[in-house]
Amino acid sequence: MKRILSFVLCMAMLFALSSSAMAFTAGTYEGEAQSFGGPLKVAVTVSETAIEKIEVISHGDTQGISDAAYAKVPEAIIAGQSVAVDTVAGCTVSSQGIIDAVTAALLASGATQEEITKEVAVAEAAPAELETKSADVIVIGAGGAGMTAAVEVLRAGGSVIVVDKMPSVGGNTIAAGSALNAAGTEIQAAGTMAASGIAAVEEKLALEPKNETMARWQESVRKDLEAYKASGSNQVFDSIDLHKLQTYVDGDYVAKVELVEILGNGAPQAIKYLEELGMQWAPEITTAVGATWPRSHQPTRSFGGSGSDFVLPQTEFVKANGGEIILEHKVEELIMENGKVVGAKGTATDGTPFEYRANKSVVLATGGFGANVELRQKFNKHWANLDASVPTSNMPCATGDGLVLAEAVGANLIGVEWIQMVTGSSSAGVTASIANNIYVNANGERFVAEDSRRDVLSGAVLEQPGSFFWLLVDSKTMWDLMGGKHYNGKTVDQLKEIGLLEAETIEELAVLMGCDPATLQASVDQHNKAVTGEEADPLGRQVYEFTFDKGPYYAGKGYAMVHHTMGGVEINENCEVLDVNGNPIPGFYAAGEVTGGIHGGNRLGGNAIADIIVFGQIAGQNAVK
Ligand SMILES: Cc1cc2nc3c(=O)[nH]c(=O)nc-3n(C[C@H](O)[C@H](O)[C@H](O)COP(=O)(O)OP(=O)(O)OC[C@H]3O[C@@H](n4cnc5c(N)ncnc54)[C@H](O)[C@@H]3O)c2cc1C
Repeated sequence: MKRILSFVLCMAMLFALSSSAMAFTAGTYEGEAQSFGGPLKVAVTVSETAIEKIEVISHGDTQGISDAAYAKVPEAIIAGQSVAVDTVAGCTVSSQGIIDAVTAALLASGATQEEITKEVAVAEAAPAELETKSADVIVIGAGGAGMTAAVEVLRAGGSVIVVDKMPSVGGNTIAAGSALNAAGTEIQAAGTMAASGIAAVEEKLALEPKNETMARWQESVRKDLEAYKASGSNQVFDSIDLHKLQTYVDGDYVAKVELVEILGNGAPQAIKYLEELGMQWAPEITTAVGATWPRSHQPTRSFGGSGSDFVLPQTEFVKANGGEIILEHKVEELIMENGKVVGAKGTATDGTPFEYRANKSVVLATGGFGANVELRQKFNKHWANLDASVPTSNMPCATGDGLVLAEAVGANLIGVEWIQMVTGSSSAGVTASIANNIYVNANGERFVAEDSRRDVLSGAVLEQPGSFFWLLVDSKTMWDLMGGKHYNGKTVDQLKEIGLLEAETIEELAVLMGCDPATLQASVDQHNKAVTGEEADPLGRQVYEFTFDKGPYYAGKGYAMVHHTMGGVEINENCEVLDVNGNPIPGFYAAGEVTGGIHGGNRLGGNAIADIIVFGQIAGQNAVK
């Protein structure tokens, strides 16, 4: 193997600046601190002069997301003999939790704060040699799209390297709220809906079609709807073509219809695909925030909290079937030879330069750019402000590197101006479903139909006093549906620590929220009358499940935040990346949030997970051909 010496990069080594001895009373001490998923406990063994061993006894963090912190932070503390170590990118809260818990244990052992926080310096080491590898397919990005593509490469008998810049797999996918939209599944067929919901379908059918494809979808939905009405059924009405129609219309007709067609057709298969890889679906259908229709499927979280079920099943398959997953390697450039993409190169976190060659193709699956303020500002045309003061739900990895990499080899970008904001509450948003949520403003008044599109919800929140809202849930949601836990695994007690309010009555809740109890009660009554059919919702909401009447009641503050980037690299039906003239760039495929043209100007909640599985499969299958 050809090895070239790097001329710039140096490997970092940790050592303690000061060698002054620490004064511990030898033994093992326990320490506790708050981490992302609640309390975290460590046992730290010390001799009289050194930290010998750190063991994490328990924590409530999401499987996958925080693994790197647990692997690296204890090691760094022991190497540096200090708690003044860096947090690990992508899992900073867990890293800090470990640091705080170890600090507590060390203080209990008799050391002083000054002794255990001595500065840790970074020394330069010898320049690293170039690391080279090859495989049939190089996948850039170990999120849901990349891992799905890798599975397909392996299933076709190819070899694959998945390279990711972060210390753990999963990207934004592992943080997902756990909703995958698909029409016509058995799980959906078991759900029921109120007849009033049909009005939303009829609205779509009454629209002037923008093209032949849309007219075809409308015609097919019209026929299905007539048959549904004639049957007198109260099952959830849906069809694959309705899913496509809603995706296209609520995406403001900006999407490429041929990609919407693939998304709708492929989504039910995505349900089966994940199931075959070992994940399990919850038996109830839900409606994710901004999904606008009850077709959101939720996993049972058997692979951990949140979106683990959408990426860890594939990861296990890749590991078990000979795929290579390389973390902490950031791709900085695609290698082009004779007009073909033949590999990727970049630098590892430890400074090692690398160059990976693809015998067949490269799949770009680097996700969106919601966490990159500069790109947000550059591309945004539709929001008044998306600067650093606007929060994001995204993981720190979502920096849009793929757009830069792809543009540098001539790729066309489409729809990058479409940046999605979503309304969310980290304390009260316990379920990804909108069906039982009530939104009220600081005065306790409802101000928007909660089943609206995400841009409508976010725009409405931004207009409220203080630009925030209260998300209300009752115990039917908090306890009966969610078992007293947020979808990310946090318990009610942990949620209370981050602002969840709890009260036995609506009146008491209003007092805690600081609004007029009668106004809040009127908002709840309005919801309940619409659920029972007594009075239509004056704000036009159509998606409901239960009446809101089981205490204790909960409220959490929510905000509009940057959530998803609809635009990106242009692809065709084969997931080939297109250049500015519409021609495929040889050897180059893309899938997932890095691509554009699937969701148009507004993504339906729950459609992105369907997207990454459906297009991840296509990209992997074609890349290995
Ligand atoms: C909090 C949250 C909740 C969500 N909930 C839902 C939901 O319930 N349903 C739904 O449909 N959608 C949801 N979404 C959206 C959805 O999760 C994402 O659109 C989707 O997971 C993106 O998958 P991906 O594979 O394209 O990218 P990601 O999962 O983000 O993976 C991209 C990977 O590429 C890596 N990478 C980036 N640049 C480089 C580089 N230069 N070199 C090497 N590696 C690189 C990143 O580190 C990352 O691991 C949610 C998003 C968020 C943030």
